[in-house]
Amino acid sequence: MKKLSTAYWIPFVSISFFVSCGYTLYGAAMGEEKSGILESNSQPKVYPADDFKGSFPTSVILIISDGAGIGHYSTLYYGSDDFAPARFDHVGIVTTHPSDGSTKVTDSAAGGTALATGEKTYNGAIAVDHDHNPLKTIVEWAEEKGMATGLVATSTISHATPATFGSHVDSRSKEAEISQQLAESSIDVLFGGGSKYWEPELFTNVINSGGQVIADISDAVDPLRRVVGLFSKESMITANEGRSPSTVQMAEKAISILEHDPDGFFIMIEESQVDWGGHANSSEYVFGEMESLNQVVNYCLDYQRTHPDVLVVLTTDHETAGCSVNDGSDGALDIQFTGDHHTANFVPVWATGPGSEAFDAFLDNTEIGKTLIRYIKN
Ligand SMILES: [Zn+2]
Repeated sequence: MKKLSTAYWIPFVSISFFVSCGYTLYGAAMGEEKSGILESNSQPKVYPADDFKGSFPTSVILIISDGAGIGHYSTLYYGSDDFAPARFDHVGIVTTHPSDGSTKVTDSAAGGTALATGEKTYNGAIAVDHDHNPLKTIVEWAEEKGMATGLVATSTISHATPATFGSHVDSRSKEAEISQQLAESSIDVLFGGGSKYWEPELFTNVINSGGQVIADISDAVDPLRRVVGLFSKESMITANEGRSPSTVQMAEKAISILEHDPDGFFIMIEESQVDWGGHANSSEYVFGEMESLNQVVNYCLDYQRTHPDVLVVLTTDHETAGCSVNDGSDGALDIQFTGDHHTANFVPVWATGPGSEAFDAFLDNTEIGKTLIRYIKN
């Protein structure tokens, strides 16, 4: 059952006397009220991916644009002459709520876990369920199949989204513990920021067990051995500040390593900071990160053209800050935000390659994880 709460409409009693059935619109139109509280006891239905009976991909590239909803994509589309997501063959709409019940709004941990494991969990959970039992990730499924695996992020590599693909922890705040699990994992390529969470012996252990640690993205590597590259102590700097290596440079290097595995590969590439641009209500920050994402998408789709057995999926863990494109003066864009937190707004999923038809749907975020894991298992 849904109804407008008492708390909302009492201030509008005098208005509603005149407009008996349209007071919410009236209030908003007069600029007096821009939000309204809806009580909701509904349990959101989880919609499945489309049926799919075609061929399976041999490799999967999953790009996550953290926090990017329709408004962020619209900002890129209207602010740029090149909109790479239009090149995808299939597009769907995704629900992102966590399993908490008390909230419809996910954080990156529960949102990432849904994509990485196909299971809903509580906000803050890194690939564990409500009882803190580990949920098997797509990376673990891929390793079981002998595939190469990689994670790329512009946040710390132990930040919530990449963490859900490479570790199991009851709280996203435990970045040192996440770093230790990542270091001790069999993930073949780890690129991003966050070296401050890695005790020196973690790097030593990577090298002693046959891996390579690089300080510069252009360093030569043996593609048949593990590679770790953490290019900043904290998260990497923004695209606008000249992030180096750029997201696309990390993606290109990672794929050039992983593609040597004859069993195929799985990689998750996160454009981590679209979310932070939303939290900061900064249109410049959002646009810079979305332009960076655009380069990554163009690169991955170009790669897919020459490697047609690769599935490329682009999606988002949640929308951030209710971003919208409005008219400014003289043809400029007036980018506005309804808040500075995540929202439960639907987000897009885009896909090209074998199995991409499954994403032509209105579907839940867990269905993306489940579908990709099904492909890997086959
Ligand atoms: Zn997020």
